Amino acid sequence: MIISLRKLTYEDLKKQLSKEDKIVVWACNNCVRFCDGFGGRDAMNNLADQLEQDGFNVIRRELIGMSCVLDLVHLRAIEDATREFFEQATVIIPLTCEDGLDNLKMVFKGKKIIDVPKTVGLGILSTDWHTLRLTIPFEDTGLKPTPEGMPLEEAAKQLGIYAGPFVTK
Ligand code: SF4
Repeated sequence: MIISLRKLTYEDLKKQLSKEDKIVVWACNNCVRFCDGFGGRDAMNNLADQLEQDGFNVIRRELIGMSCVLDLVHLRAIEDATREFFEQATVIIPLTCEDGLDNLKMVFKGKKIIDVPKTVGLGILSTDWHTLRLTIPFEDTGLKPTPEGMPLEEAAKQLGIYAGPFVTK
């Protein structure tokens, strides 16, 4: 499974938004959900709720099975149920891996797509560990591959970034 971490804190994220923005919180419901809960429905709703409480205008919460399938992302731009929201949106916050981020940039040209994820390698989910661990880091991370894997919190700490969902409190 693809492992993605988070480049920004909630405070960093807010600095990239304005109160005039029309915001879509976009979340994959697959790999990133297992990355300590970085993506998925709960992470999406918690982030959107907090942004609303802080006075931001969240116009849409979009949960998608896989943002790495370009056609699925493109459907959101053209289908009757979603087209209007994406025409209005000025900002999309992706809770996805970097492939998902790239597809959002490709489909929603002219929108501000916040650079949230850092995809760092591959991992496996073990019934013993109950959570994903990073077993095969990408070479550019400088992290060492190990059969037992590295907890994502530890990988994030070593890379100076964050793991899991935005901590909004
Ligand atoms: S876009 Fe990335 S996080 Fe989402 S399903 Fe595809 S590989 Fe997984």
